[in-house]
Amino acid sequence: MDFDLFVIGGGSAGVRCARIAAGHGARVGVAEDRFWGGTCVNIGCVPKKFLVMAAEYGGLVQDARGFGWDAATGAHDWPALIAAKDKEISRLNGIYRRLLDQAGAKIFDARAKFIDAHTLDVGGARVTAERIVIATGGHPTGLDIPGAEHAIISDDAFYLPAFPRRVAIVGGGYIAVEFAGIFAGLGAETHLIYRQPLPLRGFDGDVRNALAEALTDNGIVLHPDTLPSSISLTETGKALALSDRTLLDVDLVFFATGRAANTKGLGLEAAGVKLGSKGEVLVDEAFATSVPHIYALGDVTDRLNLTPVATAEGHALADTLFGNKPRKVNLNNVPTAVFSIPPLATVGLTEEEAARKGPVKVFVTKFTPMRHQLSGRTTRKTLMKLVVDEATDKVLGAHILGEDAPEMMQGIAVAITAGATKADFDATIGIHPTAAEEFVTLRTQTRVAGPGTGSV
Ligand code: FAD
Ligand code: NDP
Repeated sequence: MDFDLFVIGGGSAGVRCARIAAGHGARVGVAEDRFWGGTCVNIGCVPKKFLVMAAEYGGLVQDARGFGWDAATGAHDWPALIAAKDKEISRLNGIYRRLLDQAGAKIFDARAKFIDAHTLDVGGARVTAERIVIATGGHPTGLDIPGAEHAIISDDAFYLPAFPRRVAIVGGGYIAVEFAGIFAGLGAETHLIYRQPLPLRGFDGDVRNALAEALTDNGIVLHPDTLPSSISLTETGKALALSDRTLLDVDLVFFATGRAANTKGLGLEAAGVKLGSKGEVLVDEAFATSVPHIYALGDVTDRLNLTPVATAEGHALADTLFGNKPRKVNLNNVPTAVFSIPPLATVGLTEEEAARKGPVKVFVTKFTPMRHQLSGRTTRKTLMKLVVDEATDKVLGAHILGEDAPEMMQGIAVAITAGATKADFDATIGIHPTAAEEFVTLRTQTRVAGPGTGSV
């Protein structure tokens, strides 16, 4: 065999797995056919967060006036922002490639596909490997409606040559909500069209309600319980027809309606690798596919599609196979954040999930953060919430919507992973003056929820 391990895909999962395996002394090859660092670095987490930061500055400049600054927002230069973002991303691409090289992995800037269970075609060359990792990620999926070809997907949103003045985003998930904040914050008339009563299905109900209020306060026009039916070109832009018979006149229609695994054209049938109903690679808890020496990691398995999960999986597999440190990745209590404006973050169970299992004590607080006592932006609220098991006092879930929510949640996630009780939170001294200290001063129970209480 040419390699002990061959990794297909140089994204979050693949790079980590290849780099750690090579560091353990394995002979590793890795192929990437588009961009080193994958989705997160190039068209995901990293550039998205730069765009969110850019969008936040407008509000911050306005806020500064309440603190005595004679500040005013002028025009925003979109091409300058995209150029600055592109420069940083290309620096990161170089770092990812160099890390692999320094670890001793053989790099292929090429597309790989299976010929059989141990043989790959890598950019026209035949390569054999003892073990193979599929870490090919996913891609955005649009909607099949008339005129769909006039819509963009998130991959395109990072390279728009000009800033659109009127935007319609279809979807109510992570990407839809994040880009609504970006476009609205940078000054576009922004519409959010989703088929649920509230955005972010699966998140805590109080957080979803508070998010809908915050989006409206930011001037985003919400279209709940609504589906798009067609897109047509007009003299000035695009006309998006909605199921409630509204016709939106916009410059940009953006489908943020989910992603699907990159498994087509990989030759997986030749290798005998089984797929699930959505085209995702099926794996066991040790990341093995239906073929024991072929593994799959990250978004291509469509479980928890987050970068820290992908990197944790890549690291665990490399340690298990080549580092004499066998381990699995615990996917319980994975914290996550949505970089809306303001952002939200969560760990553990929602009130709805927890209450289905048994009685829980619910603590909720909603307040105007200190900054906005002076900024004058009194609509900007923070919501914080703990869901506590009535029987054991264990904190089952924590939820925040408000400024700095993702930064606060990482520490709370450590406490919940360690099994902290509400009494542990109460015994912790706060840091004053912060919003985070509310988590250790939540004394008054808001309600009890559980099977039969009506809040499930
Ligand atoms: P990827 O990063 O997609 O890497 C797969 C790589 O494989 C790609 O580079 C692809 O080009 C390559 N490839 C595919 N097929 C082949 C082939 N046949 N041969 C060679 N190479 C191939 N997650 C977070 O945790 N936080 C965030 O804030 C966040 N924001 C996001 C924002 C957006 C807009 C998107 C789309 C995603 C975001 N995510 C975020 C999710 C995160 O990007 C993914 O979970 C993560 O990138 C998954 O890593 P991966 O290695 O599984 O796949
Ligand atoms: P999501 O799964 O989060 O959201 C998809 C949205 O599209 C949902 O609102 C869904 O509605 C809607 N939708 C799906 N199909 C249809 C349809 N046929 N008609 C109308 N609406 C539809 O996907 P995203 O594309 O937003 O993001 C993909 C994944 O990437 C995320 O789930 C997350 O794992 C990751 N990500 C993480 C981020 C972060 O960590 N901050 C940021 C961005 C992405 P419904 O709820 O009704 O199904």
